[in-house]
Amino acid sequence: MCARAATAPSYSGFTIGQIRGIMGRMPELTRQKKITFAEMRASGVGGLLIYCSDYKCSHWTAISGDRWADDVRLSDLEPKFTCQACGRRGADVRPNFHWEADARRAKAPGAADHGMPSP
Ligand SMILES: [Zn+2]
Repeated sequence: MCARAATAPSYSGFTIGQIRGIMGRMPELTRQKKITFAEMRASGVGGLLIYCSDYKCSHWTAISGDRWADDVRLSDLEPKFTCQACGRRGADVRPNFHWEADARRAKAPGAADHGMPSP
């Protein structure tokens, strides 16, 4: 009796066929989508968050993305950064979705401590 001819074995509820299907899509699902500055700006984001690739260091900084051209991918920048805290090369580059709000707050006239009328 041939075991292979039997019904497909399942691992954690998936048939082999389903596992193959999932594996085939893995690169798209697991890898971060490679977006360009054009796409990032189109969604109203002008800034970047740069994270140290060493999770034990976890140093990060927020910068403006103005200096890069529209066709540059965020992932293209990752090897170009060196962590200022630990000196490790390479970083994780993410769009900074709070950039516009932060920039507006920084530029707002009479913000924070100057906004309160003196008693
Ligand atoms: Zn670091």
